[in-house]
Amino acid sequence: MSYAPAASLAQTLVRREILDLHAYHVPDSAGYVKLDAMENPYSIPPELRDEIAMAVASAPINRYPDPGAASLKEKIRSATGLPQRMDVLLGNGSDELIQLLALALNKPGATLLSVEPSFVMYKMIAAFTGMRYVGVPLISNSGAADFSLDLPATLAAIAREQPALVFLAYPNNPTGNLFSADAVKRIIEAAPGLVVVDEAYYAFASDSFIPYLASYPNLLVMRTFSKLGMAGLRLGFLAGSAAWLEQLEKLRLPYNVGVLPQLVAEKLLDHHDVLLRQAEQLKQERAKLYRQLEAVAGVQVYSSEANFLLFRVANATAVFDGLKQRGVLIKNLSGGHPMLRDCLRVTVGTAEEGAKFMAALQDTLNQFA
Ligand SMILES: *Cc1c(COP(=O)(O)O)cnc(C)c1O
Repeated sequence: MSYAPAASLAQTLVRREILDLHAYHVPDSAGYVKLDAMENPYSIPPELRDEIAMAVASAPINRYPDPGAASLKEKIRSATGLPQRMDVLLGNGSDELIQLLALALNKPGATLLSVEPSFVMYKMIAAFTGMRYVGVPLISNSGAADFSLDLPATLAAIAREQPALVFLAYPNNPTGNLFSADAVKRIIEAAPGLVVVDEAYYAFASDSFIPYLASYPNLLVMRTFSKLGMAGLRLGFLAGSAAWLEQLEKLRLPYNVGVLPQLVAEKLLDHHDVLLRQAEQLKQERAKLYRQLEAVAGVQVYSSEANFLLFRVANATAVFDGLKQRGVLIKNLSGGHPMLRDCLRVTVGTAEEGAKFMAALQDTLNQFA
């Protein structure tokens, strides 16, 4: 028996929507000042490092992890001040939780709604799971209102599309702004389905929806520890009422968070204050970087409550390439959503990384002048 070449077999057998997708591209960052992925640049204090090393040395890696992760959940509860009645569901990063939610709510014809531009995984995961997707444009090019929620358009889309699932990133990625809390509440109140407020950047933001969990039966809050210094661990969680989470729990693969991530995250959460102090430092670096970018001719920078800044230049791809040639890797958003034409996103790093970025940017822009 002879086999068709793998490529043609795959073309025949794989679902059309998957064939049409582009894989999420992660560039090779070795050797660069890495300011492309919102990672925390600081290392952890040596004593804490030693404590983690000791715990890892005796970790029972021959055993499956604790599927309920009771001890880690308790630490998450106390570190994030969750109301006692609220439950926690753990994910292998919050990306996995987005996928779980889509899998659970994707009845035939069900819709996932978000705003645009926002976190690309909402749309991608809708495609993975075959869920209908609707994106409502944010307000653009109106100075101070840039990238804020278009509340009338969003409410109209909710009334029209009746989405089973709504995602709002609070603060939003890649724009960095925090939507109006009142507008988000209006959306939660109008939505016939579940609204997930994605607080990936909670440590850098001035507001949260966790206090409103008890007020809205259709609200869940999603967080991740990735942006706070644990990107490599892959740990996110959903907080909300048990009635929702026990349904999602059935879909969660039993051992989605391994022994080592559970153990290391517990140690780090015992020192949540250390991480939050690092976040405070990054907020100061963010303010400094904002002022510096604001002062550069030809750069329009947007205000941010996250650990990155969005900015617009005359030719984003040329500036991105110029920075890269000078050893600095950021994110080029041009070519994605039309509202992000000539936009770049830089992660807030250490003072030294910020200085290297600014020097490389000045040098690149001078080259065009
Ligand atoms: C980074 C990010 C996530 C995903 O985080 P992981 O936990 O690393 O999967 C989710 N939502 C938003 C808005 C993000 O920016």
